[in-house]
Amino acid sequence: MEFLAGKIVEFYRNNGRIFPWRVKRDPFRVFVAEYMLVRTRAENVVVPYTKFISEYPSLEALTPGIRLKQDCVDAFSSLGLIRRATGFYLCLEKLLKTGRVPDEGERIEELPYVGQYIRAAVRVFGFGIRDTIIDANVVRVLARFHGLKIDDSLRRNRHFTELVESSVPADNFVHYSYGLIDFAAAVCRKTPLCDSCPLCTVCRSAKTKT
Ligand code: SF4
Repeated sequence: MEFLAGKIVEFYRNNGRIFPWRVKRDPFRVFVAEYMLVRTRAENVVVPYTKFISEYPSLEALTPGIRLKQDCVDAFSSLGLIRRATGFYLCLEKLLKTGRVPDEGERIEELPYVGQYIRAAVRVFGFGIRDTIIDANVVRVLARFHGLKIDDSLRRNRHFTELVESSVPADNFVHYSYGLIDFAAAVCRKTPLCDSCPLCTVCRSAKTKT
C-alpha cells in the first residue's frame, strides 16, 4: 500500500490538475466546490464555482433570501443539476445558523443531501483532517489495483472499504486524495492506460488483464 500511495502522491506532484477550489484550503469554498462536483465533471464546475465564489467568497458574505436562492438555481442549472439547488440552498441556510462549516463527520452529514463523499472531501481538503474519500474514481483505481471485480456492491463491501481506508497515508493524504482523482481521470480511466501506468508492475488487474 505504501507503494501505491507513494506513486499516487508523485503522480499528483507532477501531473495534478489546478482548479480554483484547490488553490486555498478554505472549508466554505471546498464545501461549495464538492457539492457542485457530485455527479459532474470537474472541468464543468469551474465556471459556476468561480461565479458563485466571486459573489459569495465566504460564509459571512451570504444573506439568505430570494437573490441567494436564484444564484443557487443558476449555478446548478448550468451544471444540469437543478434539483440539487434546493439542497444546496438549505445547506447554506444551516451553515449560516451555526456560523461555520463543521469539521466533525457526523455534523457534516446532517446537512441536506450530504453523504460520505462530501463529508470526507470537506474534512480532507477543507480542514486537512485525514479521512477516506470513496467515489467512483477511487473505487475504480483501488479495485483494479487489488484485482477485484467492480460492481455496485463493492462500495458497501467491508473488506474493500477497509482496503481503501488503509491505503490513505498518514502524511500527504491531501495530495494522495487529489492524486487518486486525477490519476483516475488521466491514467486509470474507464479504458485504462496500463502501458504508461506507474502502478503496472504490481497492479493485479494489469497482470491478469481483467
Ligand atoms: S495498471 Fe492499468 S488497471 Fe492497474 S492501476 Fe494502472 S491503469 Fe489502472
